[in-house]
Amino acid sequence: MNTPGPFRHIFFDLDHTLWDFEANSAATLEDLFKRYRRHIGTETDFDAFYFHYSHVNKNLWALYREDKISQSFLRSRRFPEAFEKMGFTAQPWMDEFGDAYIKECPTQGRLMDQAIPVLDRLKEKYSLHIITNGFDETQGTKLRSSGLEPYFQHVITSQMAAAKKPNPVIFEFALQLAGARREESAFVGDDYEADVIGGLEFGIFTVFFNPDGKTNPLKSPEVRNLIDLERYF
Ligand SMILES: [Mg+2]
Repeated sequence: MNTPGPFRHIFFDLDHTLWDFEANSAATLEDLFKRYRRHIGTETDFDAFYFHYSHVNKNLWALYREDKISQSFLRSRRFPEAFEKMGFTAQPWMDEFGDAYIKECPTQGRLMDQAIPVLDRLKEKYSLHIITNGFDETQGTKLRSSGLEPYFQHVITSQMAAAKKPNPVIFEFALQLAGARREESAFVGDDYEADVIGGLEFGIFTVFFNPDGKTNPLKSPEVRNLIDLERYF
């Protein structure tokens, strides 16, 4: 990598970096859980379901990222599998539950701590863009629901780039669309594999957003809170 900066463009990951995926997902699931009580019964505890769901979903996502399963397989399997772990047999209402989750989760607007004040500051100095592994429609809904949309000039999804982070193709696509050169670009993301390794291998200055203090073997620059981005930008 050439000496980075001065920066003109900052690219952000969306889920878990700006849009609080965990909180939005849990709120959607808890609401659906209440609405599906007639099927689920009164004995089943939401926290137990959430525990199983998180585990199943994480494993399916890992397979999806490695292109071993399709998104539709992931979406059709995660709820039946989570409920099966709790002793249920697969039922058609689980598909409806899954469809409602897909539709409703992106309409939630919770953001990571300090996201708005940080973006308010950065937008004065930099062109801001999103690089996200996801679908145009879903990610667009999240940006609108959360009030993030006006901050970003370009939103690059893996759907439009036909490649997922950490594949350099999506980074190349994003920089071209934004008219940005590598050495004047930086990237911020929370996923070590997709974002940090992806960004570093592509060759742009990459900040690991690491609120949980995960290990950082490549010693990438990192922040625990978005407010600490002021160290770099
Ligand atoms: Mg992320």
